[in-house]
Parts: sequence; structure tokens; C-alpha cells
Amino acid sequence: MKAHDGLYIDGAWRPAESTDTIEVVNPADEQVIGRVPAGGALDVDTAVRAARAALPGWAATPPAERAARLAALRDALVARKDEIAETVTAELGAPEQFAQAVHAGLPIAVAGSYAELAAQHSFEERIGNSTVLHEPVGVVGAITPWNYPLHQIVAKVAPALAAGCTVVLKPAEDTPLTAQLFAEAVHEAGVPAGVFNLVTGLGPVAGQALAEHPGVDLVSFTGSTAVGKQIGATAGAAVKKVALELGGKSANVILPSADLAKAVNVGVANVMSNSGQTCSAWTRMLVHRDRYDEAVELARTAAAKYGDRIGPLVSAKQQARVRGYIEKGVAEGARLIVGGPESPREKGYFVSPTVFADVTPEMTVAQEEIFGPVLTILPYDDEEDALRIANGTVYGLAGAVWAGDEAEAVAFARRLETGQVDINGGRFNPLAPFGGYKQSGVGRELGPHGLAEYLQTKSLQF
Ligand code: NAD
Repeated sequence: MKAHDGLYIDGAWRPAESTDTIEVVNPADEQVIGRVPAGGALDVDTAVRAARAALPGWAATPPAERAARLAALRDALVARKDEIAETVTAELGAPEQFAQAVHAGLPIAVAGSYAELAAQHSFEERIGNSTVLHEPVGVVGAITPWNYPLHQIVAKVAPALAAGCTVVLKPAEDTPLTAQLFAEAVHEAGVPAGVFNLVTGLGPVAGQALAEHPGVDLVSFTGSTAVGKQIGATAGAAVKKVALELGGKSANVILPSADLAKAVNVGVANVMSNSGQTCSAWTRMLVHRDRYDEAVELARTAAAKYGDRIGPLVSAKQQARVRGYIEKGVAEGARLIVGGPESPREKGYFVSPTVFADVTPEMTVAQEEIFGPVLTILPYDDEEDALRIANGTVYGLAGAVWAGDEAEAVAFARRLETGQVDINGGRFNPLAPFGGYKQSGVGRELGPHGLAEYLQTKSLQF
């Protein structure tokens, strides 16, 4: 795998001030595949200065020209689609087909959507005797996780550039090679120097320095709730804007009238996809008590099929964490019906697809985000009970409702405290606002709502 030994700042790859490095490991075979700089506070400062210097020029660039750069960025990503997929497979462990379709395909679609939105968005509106200008928020500090390494980057950088903001990106330490590829694509797209800057580094060092930097106007963070709370507090103290995309424990509510086999099969696939490392995964399946045993059998069969088809987890740390949760589930009395805490292979950070039945809402495995291929199945007595269980966590990122009648599912979805609900298996929409209720976050990503996060208004009265 190709790895740059510099940071991309002010339009060029330059050596880091810090001499520390990060080893990138292939989680499927535990081999080191590259080394990247672990930037420090000084490097972050250089990058933020470059972004500040580039801000007035980029903010004043006509939206049509910003749109043209974003279209060129999409094209550069398309040209590198295979390389992106191979890189994500190497550093995240995603199976090839999934890496092509989702890890490379989705960010291409999102970059394309912002090329269009930048061209179409009206950056000025008239309200009574006022003209309201939609102006860029300024310099954005973007901090991203490893689970969808390119998607998380594009979901922040594309709308920021569309809005006229400049960016310093601190990607996850586990997947910096994908971020370097993205920087190459930005460069090829002819985005002016300083508009996008990349500082690879550790969260508590480079990430924290970026979140605390007074030259950053908006911190956009995706990651764990624990770090998100810290970033929110830092930003709050500095009266800085903040967008947080955090964890989830989403409910898949199967109402009695639903097509049970379809709902269970799609539900299992949803959790096992990306080895369960999806913040919006439907990790709690809620089934009426009368159909519970049938659902458990269907889930057992469905999950068993994923044995050899899912990739490893991203790191030894995540593997240990997920296995710890499985042990906790057993200790708290949940019934293991597939999988378990044992490692299924000698090498690589694999965890078996795991399903727990007889899970009660208070159990740790039903409350905390596991971030692995672990499904919990909970019985409910009636709709009110299902609603109470579904809304009974600190999270509210996503979810699903299945019913024989679409209107019945929609009526239930209206009562869910969550940012997204898929009705009877509705498809992912890359233009729909994505983000959380409650402790799943602050703000929305994707589509026009995602663009609005990077704009602030100025009203001129006449
Ligand atoms: P994490 O919070 O440890 O790391 C996320 C990013 O924050 C990384 O770039 C990391 O280097 C950085 N970071 C870590 N400590 C920091 C600090 N003190 N200051 C500033 N930056 C810091 O999370 P992770 O382990 O990389 O990702 C898994 C978590 O992310 C899960 O909980 C998952 O639900 C969540 N996630 C949420 C979404 C979403 O859209 N809501 C998407 C993906 C992942």
C-alpha cells in the first residue's frame, strides 16, 4: 500500500514537525502495511493557518466554480474507485465487494450530490424587507472515524467546500491511507491550496489540538459519544459551532402484521454488514412475544450464513471490546443462539456473527453500543411496550419499522425518538438528513440539511 510520509497542507505534501508515526495494520492478517506521520499541535496549527489564509478567496469563489471543483473531485474519486476499495479492504478489512459498492461507491455518490447542491443552492433569500445571505461558517475542523473511512470524510468535506468553508481534516488513526488517497483526489480536482488540509495523527494529540484551536470556527466530529461529549464541552467553552455524529443502539421494530421472514433476514443483514461497525445498525430486534420463537429460529439460520462472509473488526482493541460485550451478555443471562466470544480464526481480528435471544431492555448488550456483529432480540407484549423499549436508550440515531400496512408502520415511526426510520426495508437515501436525537448527536449530515450545517446567515435590511 502506498503511504505518504508527509501531511497535505497548503496544497502540498510536507514533512510533519512531529517525528512520531502511526503504523497501519491490515486487520485480516495483522501485517503492518504502511506508516504515516502522527502530526502534533504544531502541525495542526500550520494547517489551520493555511485554511484561514485560503478562506476569503474560497468563500468569495462563485458557487458554480465551487460546484465545478466538487464535480472534478467526484471524477477523481471515480477514476480511483478500485484503489479506494483496495485501500479500505487493506486497512479496515472490508470484503472486496462491499468495499467497492459501499466504501467507494457511497462517497462518490455523496461528492456528486454536493457538486449538484453547490450549483443549485440559493445562497441568498428575500424575507420581507431583508435579504438574507447564506455565508460560510469559516474554517472547519473535521474529525472522522474509521468505520466508513471515506464516506465520513466526504460527508463533511464536500458540504463544507460547497458552502465556501475551508477544512482541516484529522482522520481516524486506523484508516489514514484512505484519507491520504482522498487528499490526492482533492489535489487532482484543482481545489486551491489551503482549502483542504490533512493532518494524520492521534485523537488525544492532533484531534484535541484541532478541536481546541481558536482558528477553527466549526468542529464537525463523528465518533464515540465519550469523545463527542468532550469536544462539545471544549467547543461550548469557546462559543464555537459544533456538529456531532455519535453512537447508536437502533431498534428494528417488527410489528405483528409484518412479513416476519423478510424483516428478520433484512434485520440480520443490516447488523452483520461491515462486521457490525455501523453507527446506525439495527442492533436491537423487537419481536412480539407470540412470534418470538419463530423469529429467533429465523435469525439463527440467517446469522449462521454470515460465518465466512464478514470481514474482521478494525483492530485488536475493537475485537477485545466486542468479545468483552459478548461475555457480558452471557454473564447477564442472555441466551447465545449463534456465535460467541471465542475467536473464530487464529489470525486476524475476527469475531463470529453473534445473536442473543431472551434479552431484556436493562441488559448491557441492549443498552450500550457494541460496534460488532452482535444482534440482540427482545420480546415485547404490545405496541406500547415495543415503543417504550425502542425509545429506552440514551441513543436515537436510526431504526426500522415493519408492518403489513405501510400506514401502520409510519404511525409507529412517528412516535420513535430517532433521526431516521426505514419503513418496511426502505433504501438508504444519500440526500436524506442523517443524524441523531438525544445522545446520538447534534446536527445533520448529507443532502441540503448537511449543507446548511456549514452556512451561517447574515440579514441585510432595506
Ligand atoms: P473515537 O471517538 O475514539 O474516534 C473518532 C475520531 O476522534 C478519531 O479520528 C479519533 O482519532 C478522534 N479522537 C479520539 N479522541 C479524541 C480527542 N480526545 N479529541 C479529539 N479527537 C479525538 O471513535 P472510533 O472508535 O474511531 O469510532 C467508533 C465510534 O464512532 C462508535 O461509537 C460509533 O457509533 C461512532 N460513529 C458514529 C457515527 C455517526 O455518524 N453517528 C459514524 C461512525 C462512527
